[in-house]
Amino acid sequence: MHTFPSRLPHVGTTIFTVMSRLAQEHGAINLSQGFPDFPPPPRLIEFLKRRLSEACHQYPPMAGILPLREAVAEKLARLYGAAYDPEHEITITAGATEALFSAITATVRPGDEVIVFAPVYDSYLPAIALQGGVARVVDLAPPSFRPNWDAVAAAITPKTRMIIVNTPHNPTGAVWTAEDMAQLMRLVRATDIVLLGDEVYEHIIFADGASGGRHESLARLPELRERSFVVSSFGKTYHITGWKIAYCAAPRALMNEFRKVHQFNVFTVFHPAQWALFDFMRAEPDFAAGLAEFYRAKRDLFRALLADSRFVLLPCDGTYFQLARYDRISSLADIEFVRWLTIEKGVAAIPVSAFMPDTRQDGLVRFCFAKNEATLRAAAERLRAV
Ligand code: PMP
Ligand code: GLN
Repeated sequence: MHTFPSRLPHVGTTIFTVMSRLAQEHGAINLSQGFPDFPPPPRLIEFLKRRLSEACHQYPPMAGILPLREAVAEKLARLYGAAYDPEHEITITAGATEALFSAITATVRPGDEVIVFAPVYDSYLPAIALQGGVARVVDLAPPSFRPNWDAVAAAITPKTRMIIVNTPHNPTGAVWTAEDMAQLMRLVRATDIVLLGDEVYEHIIFADGASGGRHESLARLPELRERSFVVSSFGKTYHITGWKIAYCAAPRALMNEFRKVHQFNVFTVFHPAQWALFDFMRAEPDFAAGLAEFYRAKRDLFRALLADSRFVLLPCDGTYFQLARYDRISSLADIEFVRWLTIEKGVAAIPVSAFMPDTRQDGLVRFCFAKNEATLRAAAERLRAV
C-alpha cells in the first residue's frame, strides 16, 4: 500500500460545502454558505444569452477581454480615483478565490510571513501554506472586530512579505475606516510589504456603520495602491456567485508576476460571461451603487425579525452576513450548535470557529441574509422558536 503525504494535512472540506450539504440533506433553510437565493438582473441574463449565440466560444485573451478590463478600470477611476492601465494592470479571474490564490502564489516564498486577521476567510491559510509561507495571525475581538494597530505593528517582522486586508470583512461584517487605512499606511511605509485587498463586498457597506458607508479601498490612496493587489468579485455584485468571475487590479510590476501564475493556473475564464458583464456594466453603470441600500433593507428586516429571539445580534456594517451570539440558547461548541440548528430546527448557519486558525470559540454563528423576504421570514420564524 502506498502512502501519499498530504501537502495540507490539517485541511478538511471547506465549511461552506459541509454546511450546504447538511442543509440539503435535512431540508433546512440554508443561511450558511453565502449566496443569493434570488436571480441576477434579467438584463445580465439577456446579454449572456445573446453573447452565447455569437462567436465567443474560443479562448479569450489570457488577462480577459480588453473591453471588460476597460470597464473595470473606469469603475476604479470613478469610485476610488485610481488610474489603472487596463492593458497591463487588470486581470479577469476565475472568481476572487483564484485571484487571491494567484496573488499569494506570485508573492509569497518559503519562509515569508503573511499577516492575516482572525476570523480569517477560509481560503487564505491553505494558499499561504502551499507556498511554504508562515501566517502571522492578528486577532480581531468581538463585538466590533476592528484591528488593534499595536498588535499589527507587533506582528510585523523583517520576514513580513504580505498583509491580507479584507474589508468589508467576512464573516464579521466589520468595515475598515479611513483611520484604519492611515494606520496601515504608517506601518508599511518603510517596508517592502505587499498588500492583498480582498474587497469582494466593496458595494455592500451600510451608511449607518463605522465608515459612514464609504469603502476604503486599497486603490484609493496612491501610497497603498502602488504595493497592492485589489480583488473584487462580480459574483457578489451581480448576484452570480456560480459564474465564478472576478478581477484583480495591481500596478504593472505586481500584475506582471500575478499573470505568470494566472496563465498556468486557469489561463483565462469563461468567454461569454466576460462579454455579458461588459454589456451589463455599460448598460447599467449604477447597478452597484444601489446594492448597499438593497442589502440594508434585507439586513434590517432580518434583524427586526430576530429582535425578540434568544439570539443576540452583533453589529453589521457591511457584507451580507449577520453574526449572532447563542449563549442564551445553548452551551454547545459552535460547530455542534449549527449541526443541531440545521438538523433539529431547520436553519443552517456557519460556525465562526471555522474561520479561526486555533478554532477559538467566541460562541458565534453567521447567517447569510442575501435571501428573498419569504426565505428570511421563514427562517426567522424557526429561529424565534429556538
Ligand atoms: N473572499 C471573501 C471574503 C468571500 O466572502 C468570498 C466568497 N464568499 C471570496 C473571497 C470568494 O469569491 P469568489 O466566489 O468570487 O471566488
Ligand atoms: N465565500 C462564501 C461564504 O463565505 C462561500 C464561498 C464558497 O463556498 N467557496 O459563504
